[in-house]
Amino acid sequence: MKKAIYWFRKNLRVSDNPSLKDAIEQNDEVICIYVRDYSTYSPNGLDIGEMGIFRRKFLDESISNLQENLKSFGLKLNIFEGDIVKIFEEVRSKFNSDKVYGSKEVGWYEQDEEKRLASNKFDLILYDDQFLIETDKLPYTIGDLPLVFTHFRKKVEKLVQIRDEVKISNKKFEIKNYNFEYETSNESGGIEINKNSNFPFVGGETSALKRLDSYLWRDNRIKKYKETRNGLIGTEYSSKFSSFLSLGCISPVTIYHEIKRYEKKIIKNSSTYWLIFEILWREFFRYVYLKGGKNIFLKDGINGNIFNKNFKNDLDLFNKWKDGHTGQDFIDANMIELNKTGFMSNRGRQNVASYLVNDLDLNWTWGASYFEKHLIDYDVASNWCNWMYISGVGNNVKNWVFNPVRQSDMYDKSGNYREIWLNKKIGQQNIEF
Ligand SMILES: Cc1cc2nc3c(=O)[nH]c(=O)nc-3n(C[C@H](O)[C@H](O)[C@H](O)COP(=O)(O)OP(=O)(O)OC[C@H]3O[C@@H](n4cnc5c(N)ncnc54)[C@H](O)[C@@H]3O)c2cc1C
Repeated sequence: MKKAIYWFRKNLRVSDNPSLKDAIEQNDEVICIYVRDYSTYSPNGLDIGEMGIFRRKFLDESISNLQENLKSFGLKLNIFEGDIVKIFEEVRSKFNSDKVYGSKEVGWYEQDEEKRLASNKFDLILYDDQFLIETDKLPYTIGDLPLVFTHFRKKVEKLVQIRDEVKISNKKFEIKNYNFEYETSNESGGIEINKNSNFPFVGGETSALKRLDSYLWRDNRIKKYKETRNGLIGTEYSSKFSSFLSLGCISPVTIYHEIKRYEKKIIKNSSTYWLIFEILWREFFRYVYLKGGKNIFLKDGINGNIFNKNFKNDLDLFNKWKDGHTGQDFIDANMIELNKTGFMSNRGRQNVASYLVNDLDLNWTWGASYFEKHLIDYDVASNWCNWMYISGVGNNVKNWVFNPVRQSDMYDKSGNYREIWLNKKIGQQNIEF
């Protein structure tokens, strides 16, 4: 009898999940496990603590939804907390298999987990489930990956064919219950969503597929994505796919093919192209992570501090930034949005990151870890590489400095966005002299 452990990581879905498909189809008995960990990274001099409530809520909901969706295969999701090796040792001894299927992840902790399991003689069969372009299809070796996104994009657009989606054949196992010492339960609910939240979505695969359907087919928002994507208010200015992608509630391959179907049936325009273009940024940063490794968490990043920024550690100033008390309306409104909802627009993220680095002269890794704690869509590569980029230590050919006064005049001319989060009337105080 062939037995395998299926290890869910950042691929909390059953649809288009190649490693899950193979685990189910190639084995007679499968046990599904998920190791939950709410901890987040604190750089030197800062105690960030556990993940914020909105990020945690979304994770718990995604786990619950996966538990439900696995039932149709007769599979139970066993949730654990604790040391990864001890957990796997317990599963191995009770289930009697050391064959482990799962997704290959980027990130220091994630890769460390893989190394520790491999050195404890688990047979890891890991797939590139979370990539749009699997590693072996990349037209570069990781070492040769270019620093500049445009070079990467052009070559990828020309040479790479995205794989087809996969579907698991009908198979039903018999649910088996084990008594595991490290097993824990999953609870979701109890956290109220702010009425002004731009991200009021529930976590999980079911919600992800519903969002994909509404953003493309039901409401045709994708048609105008390029014009609306710099918006600040509401659910519809951008796709809001990032949180679902960060936990793998949906695969980038599913999104890609759905956009291609939309282009064939409804319209192919610069907006449909641009959404794929942005998803390629996500992909690029995953590879930048694989190339840069743990340097992406260091103050000098992958490229060195070529613009000679200060990056000082000043806790009082940092606290003003994080609490939305800098006195700069646009920056404060964005930080308050993040604190109250777990979300911030791309425009907002660029501005608050630039402000932290260029106006407050602070250590960018502190800002990145604050984002890691709170962002519902936190993704190790996208977060840390974007922060590196804005801080001038990443994939830079240019020193990015955003002027929040000019930016708010361009993107929040009416002041409505700032009024929502600052709860005050916005007058003329942002006019630059
Ligand atoms: C300082 C900073 C930190 C960031 N941290 C994260 C993070 O932790 N997780 C995360 O997913 N994104 C991060 N981003 C990128 C971007 O802000 C978010 O992906 C986007 O705002 C999410 O909203 P959306 O899904 O509606 O995006 P859309 O505009 O609809 O874009 C579609 C998809 O493209 C991808 N994408 C878009 N812009 C970027 C980008 N600049 N880099 C990488 N992928 C991108 C995302 O997967 C996104 O879901 C960060 C950007 C900055 C400037």
